[in-house]
Amino acid sequence: MDKIAKFWKAYSEDSVECLLCPHNCIIKKNQFGICRARKNIDNKLYALNYGKTTGIAIDPIEKKPLYHFYPFAKILSLGANSCNFSCKFCQNYTSSQLKCPTEYISPEELLSLCVKHNIAMVAFTYTEPFTWYEYIYDCAVLFKKNNIKVVLVTNGYINREPLLELLPLISAMNIDLKAFSEEFYQNLCGGRLQPVLETIKIAVNYIHLEITTMIIETQNDDLGEMRELISFVKSLNSKMPDEIDIPLHISRYFPRYKLNLPATSEKKIFEFVKLAKQELPFVYPGNVIAKDNLLMLNTYCPHCNSLLIDRVNQVSFLKSNICPNCGQYIYGVF
Ligand code: SF4
Repeated sequence: MDKIAKFWKAYSEDSVECLLCPHNCIIKKNQFGICRARKNIDNKLYALNYGKTTGIAIDPIEKKPLYHFYPFAKILSLGANSCNFSCKFCQNYTSSQLKCPTEYISPEELLSLCVKHNIAMVAFTYTEPFTWYEYIYDCAVLFKKNNIKVVLVTNGYINREPLLELLPLISAMNIDLKAFSEEFYQNLCGGRLQPVLETIKIAVNYIHLEITTMIIETQNDDLGEMRELISFVKSLNSKMPDEIDIPLHISRYFPRYKLNLPATSEKKIFEFVKLAKQELPFVYPGNVIAKDNLLMLNTYCPHCNSLLIDRVNQVSFLKSNICPNCGQYIYGVF
């Protein structure tokens, strides 16, 4: 089902400008934008990927990753066959970068699936949800009326106006902050860093937010750059009045798609987790298996160090945002 796109304008007699993401593609008749999801048909812009998904799964919410948002909940997860980045290390490249089979599922059918499986949350994930904007918007309007929460796992590459229109319908996001250098974003991702930082700065005021950085040794593991990234996350945190303490997930890279550098060592991930913990209260390793360090997956009170969420044994001692031992406010939705 093709749908007229929401954010575009006529550019010339035979081209339109897409206003959804910072690429601002100028698209000639019968051509697609960079994301391969939007096409100029008779000088109107259409979202050709509306409702078409590469697959649906039920995941633990920790897999998104979201560690401070309804711990251990199950979340219905689905993605489109499109992305506005072209990361050379994409871990999901078969569905984000290559054309693959899709099936149509209407917002109403998706809602029915949630009801059938008794699930109260849907994640738009796996590829880039903002390239699925019209579908996610329609789903989110319907889900809000039915108390289903919407989560986005995203690269954060969206323009301000569409972002502001969608945010009131969304409950949580995990935004990839892939590096803290423009060079990395331009050379390895086909995008820019600055718009991602803008999205993060806006989103943190509206929704529950967590950030993921995947470390690729020799590419984004410079100590100075990592310190800048940590400082940026810290600058978003506030103690009053909103009590924001954004969790940072530092995850391990494995060779995929066009990047054949060796997998990042677990040692490097744990080093960076320890570094970030000097500045941020909630920092977690991702894609690691080292048993000695599994306690790092747990959430501890930053004030009294009580164990709050035991992710190894899947037990949460948090029933609200307040530490049961000392009363410290804990950022998240529990
Ligand atoms: S959403 Fe797609 S078509 Fe629109 S500007 Fe971004 S990459 Fe281009």
